[in-house]
Amino acid sequence: MSMIFAPLSSENRPYIQPAYLKDWGSISSKLHPHQQTMLKAQGFEPKAGSHTLLYDEKGSLEGVLFFEDETDPWAFGALVKALPVHTYRLKGELSHAPIALLSWLLAGYSYDRFKDARKPIASLEEPAGVDCASIMQQASATVLARDLINAPANVMGPAELEAQALILAAKHDAKCLSIVAEDLLEHNFPLIHIVGQASTRPPRLVQLEWGKSTDPKITLVGKGICYDTGGLDIKPSSAMAIMKKDMGGAATVMALAEMLMAAKCPVRLRVLLPIAENSIAGNAFRTGDVYRSRKGLSVEIGNTDAEGRLVLADALALSGEEETDLTMTFATLTGAARVAVGPDLVPFYTRDDDVQNALMQTASQTHDPLWPMPLWKPYEKWLESKIADLNSAPSQPFAGSVTAALFLEKFVSNTKTYVHFDLYAWNMRMRAGRPEGGELQAARAVFAYIMRRYGQEA
Ligand SMILES: [Zn+2]
Repeated sequence: MSMIFAPLSSENRPYIQPAYLKDWGSISSKLHPHQQTMLKAQGFEPKAGSHTLLYDEKGSLEGVLFFEDETDPWAFGALVKALPVHTYRLKGELSHAPIALLSWLLAGYSYDRFKDARKPIASLEEPAGVDCASIMQQASATVLARDLINAPANVMGPAELEAQALILAAKHDAKCLSIVAEDLLEHNFPLIHIVGQASTRPPRLVQLEWGKSTDPKITLVGKGICYDTGGLDIKPSSAMAIMKKDMGGAATVMALAEMLMAAKCPVRLRVLLPIAENSIAGNAFRTGDVYRSRKGLSVEIGNTDAEGRLVLADALALSGEEETDLTMTFATLTGAARVAVGPDLVPFYTRDDDVQNALMQTASQTHDPLWPMPLWKPYEKWLESKIADLNSAPSQPFAGSVTAALFLEKFVSNTKTYVHFDLYAWNMRMRAGRPEGGELQAARAVFAYIMRRYGQEA
C-alpha cells in the first residue's frame, strides 16, 4: 500500500481550502455569486470538520472548503473517502499540518491480505511548506505496524513475526539473530521458553542490531505474543477475540526502529523481541509453578495470562548485561491500563522526571498521546511470594498496570534511563485516519524524543 502524496503537476487540479468557522462570513462573501446561491439553496451551515464542494459556472468541481476542527486535527483525513475521486491541491495552510496530512495518508489504509476492499479514493498533491518525506515515513511505519497487528494469528505466528524482523534488518543493513525453541533453554532464557512451550509454533528471541558501536546505545524491547489464549487461566471468548494483537509491542518496536534507521539516528540500536504463543496443552506452564529467570530471580506464576511480563523479564535481563543509555519496553501488557486511561492514551512509567516531561512534550507535539503513571514503591510488596523471589501477578485486584511495571523494573539494570509503555495497539472504532483494528501508538512521540535526546530535531 503506497502512503504517498501525488507529485506536483501543472494541471489545474481542484483545490482544498482549509478554513475556520469564524472566517465563514468573509469567505462566503468572496465566492462567485452562483456558488453563494447554490450554498444558500442547499441550506449549507459550516460545522467543525465539515466540507462543501464548490463548482464553477460550467458545473465542474473547482474546489473544496474544509472547516477545521480545532479539537481534532485528524479530522482532515475524513475527506479522503468523502470527496469525489480526484487529485487535489492544498490551497492555504492547515493548522497542525503534519498530523492532518498524516491522517490524510493513513485514511487510505485497509488490511487487504484476504479481502481486497480497496476502492478508488481521493489523493493530494505534495503540499508546500511541510516536510512531506517525514510524514510519508511516519505513514509507512504506521502501515507496517498495522499490517503486523492486523494479520490473523494463523499467518502471523512466531516464525512469521521473526521473518518480518529479518526483512526489516535486511532493508537497513542491520544484524539479526534468533534463538529458537530448546536453544532458549541452552542460552538461558527460561521464561521465554516456558511461556511458548505449549504451542506447536516454538518461541524465540529475535535480536536486531544497527548503528555505530561508538554511538550511545539504546535498547527497545517489544512483547511479541502472537496469540494469547491466557494459557491455563484461559481468557473468556470476548477477551480472546482480538488477541492476535498481543504482539503489538513487537510491531511498535519494529515501526519505531524503522523510523530511527531511516532517519539515520546517531545511536547504537538494539531491538529485542521475545516472541511466543501462549497456548494450552499438557505441557503448558501452570499457576503456582516456580521458575528461575535469566536474571537469577525465582518467579512464582501468579496467573498464566500474565505471560507478557515473563518474556520481557528475560529480554530485559539480557539487555542489562551490557551498559545502555536508554532502555524501553513496549507491550500490550494489562487490561488495567485500559481501565485507567482508556484505549487512546498510552500510560508510561519512568523514574526520570526530565525524561517524563520531555516525552509529554513530544507526545503533545506529535499528537501521539502518552500519560505518566507512578512506579509506586509501596506496591512492590504486592509482588512478594512465599516460596519465590517474586510473584508474577499479585492477587490484589488494583493497580494492575503499576504492579506489572514494578515487576519489569526488577529485571532492569545497567541503564541510565528506563521507560515502559503499556499499549493497547488497537482502534476500537473507525475514526478519521484511524480505521478499526491494529494501531501504532507511542512510536511517533518516542521517535521525536529519541531524535531530540541524541541531538537531532525530528
Ligand atoms: Zn496474557
